Amino acid sequence: MQKWGEPSFRSDQIWRWLYGSLVTDPQEMRNLPLPLRQRLADACYIGHLPVVDRLVDDDGLTEKVALQTHDGQIVETVLMRYEERNTVCVSSQIGCPLGCLFCATGQSGYSRDLTAGEIVAQVLHYARALRREDAHITNIVFMGMGEPMLNYDAVWLAIDNLHHPDGMNMGLRRFTVSTVGIVPGIERMAESGTEVGLAISLHAPNDALRDQLVPANRRYPLAQVMAAARYYVEHTSRRITFEYGLAEGVNDSEALAHETAELLRGMLCHVNLIPINPAPGDTGVACDYRPSSQGRILRFQEILMAAGIETTVRVSRGRDIQAGCGQLRQRRETTDREEMP
Ligand code: SAH
Ligand code: SF4
Repeated sequence: MQKWGEPSFRSDQIWRWLYGSLVTDPQEMRNLPLPLRQRLADACYIGHLPVVDRLVDDDGLTEKVALQTHDGQIVETVLMRYEERNTVCVSSQIGCPLGCLFCATGQSGYSRDLTAGEIVAQVLHYARALRREDAHITNIVFMGMGEPMLNYDAVWLAIDNLHHPDGMNMGLRRFTVSTVGIVPGIERMAESGTEVGLAISLHAPNDALRDQLVPANRRYPLAQVMAAARYYVEHTSRRITFEYGLAEGVNDSEALAHETAELLRGMLCHVNLIPINPAPGDTGVACDYRPSSQGRILRFQEILMAAGIETTVRVSRGRDIQAGCGQLRQRRETTDREEMP
């Protein structure tokens, strides 16, 4: 605005239209003079990402959209409605370079990082949708496609934008960043002293098994990940969430539950047990894991709880809409290929 010779309060006005009123067209910015609105319309594009696919779960509570970027790529974003929460699960990259065995995103390879604008656009998509129902987003989790710690700057710029008091005004505690265990990213987050929550995808309590499930463990083994986790707790006094996806006969034995309890003993943390979402045949996931049975999950939980570790069993949401992120993108790509002459 300065460069255009406009008073500085114009930028505040525009900011409020964008993030408070959620407009998608400069012509709607009614307190701006008409010539300025026109100039904005000529010079800028308000980056909402068009919806190219939408799937709603049978229960109507979970839905996923495929949004298209300007370069024709697909970004997946999920909305999960709970009684008192509306959580949006956003992607940080298109694909993921880390190749976890059970993850559709990881198996589909890596295309590029998302920009901060593309991350914010995912949130604004659901902010607009919920506003039409008089509801709003309460939580944002970086658990969609990609590894947020490999796109740290864009992720944090997006969080800052969404946190801004004149805009979406989302409290930092409402955000959770999930990482497979990228140690430098965890350390950087710790040192920033942020109130943003941290989740670590654990999936196995020893290097031998974790190396197989989560190849990034070969680069950052468990001892380093746990040291970084303790460092985060020291700096932020915040409790860490450990995610543990349970696959029948792979990582759900009683012995592994005891080993997990040992690993986490004395740590300020919470464990989420999640039955692994089976990947449908056409997603190209390399393994044929099945989710653990309810009985095995409850036994695993019992062992952790007995060791004093708070543990919740999470229902795997949206299985019938392939809400395991990356699955929709792959479905589209498979379909596109099949439609080609
Ligand atoms: N890259 C980050 C964040 C995105 S993945 C990370 O790995 O933490 C978000 C979560 O989904 C991770 O805990 C990941 O392990 C989990 N996940 C991936 N594929 C899954 C599947 N098929 N079933 C259940 N959880 C899965
Ligand atoms: Fe990447 Fe996370 Fe999937 Fe692993 S689980 S491949 S780190 S998105």
